[in-house]
Amino acid sequence: DQRIAKISSAIRVIPDFPKPGIMFQDITTLLLEPKAFKDTIDLFVERYKDKNISVVAGIEARGFIFGPPIALSIGAKFVPMRKPKKLPGEVISEEYSLEYGTDKMEMHVGAVQSGERALIIDDLIATGGTLCAAIRLLERVGVEVVECACVIELPELKGRDRLGDKPLFVLVSAV
Ligand code: IMP
Repeated sequence: DQRIAKISSAIRVIPDFPKPGIMFQDITTLLLEPKAFKDTIDLFVERYKDKNISVVAGIEARGFIFGPPIALSIGAKFVPMRKPKKLPGEVISEEYSLEYGTDKMEMHVGAVQSGERALIIDDLIATGGTLCAAIRLLERVGVEVVECACVIELPELKGRDRLGDKPLFVLVSAV
């Protein structure tokens, strides 16, 4: 698909951000190119439009950029998966480990119903810890996670393996 090459070249790589040794994949430059941004959304919509998905769960913060236009196009609701203490209502939360320490992800109680089918969206999968936490959160309340989707995968970090048999769809593999 020729659209993929354009999307890939629209993503900027910033060395040593946020700390030395990290090559940060910056999707904000993709957002500056309306054609490439639209192609990104279209590729996801083409894949998910006939899959009976009623929930698009977007991971804070960049899952909030890609998730809503996909949700609107496929006729699903959008559910934000947020950092702790951001959601005002009753929440359920899931802890996950980072390189140093742990973090938490939260979702509003009542946002999803048992038996719904969900797609999880984020900009990038590295170790897969973040997506795993989102999967656990949704599955705890009886939601079926159909697939996880990201714009970018860092294959060296083997996040895909950590997801086990949960399917992962990505547009760009960063080497
Ligand atoms: P993981 O949990 O190790 O898979 O890390 C994925 C999370 O970290 C996602 O929410 C990403 O937005 C964020 N992340 C890690 N590395 C990058 C990067 O190079 N660019 C943008 N986001 C990143």
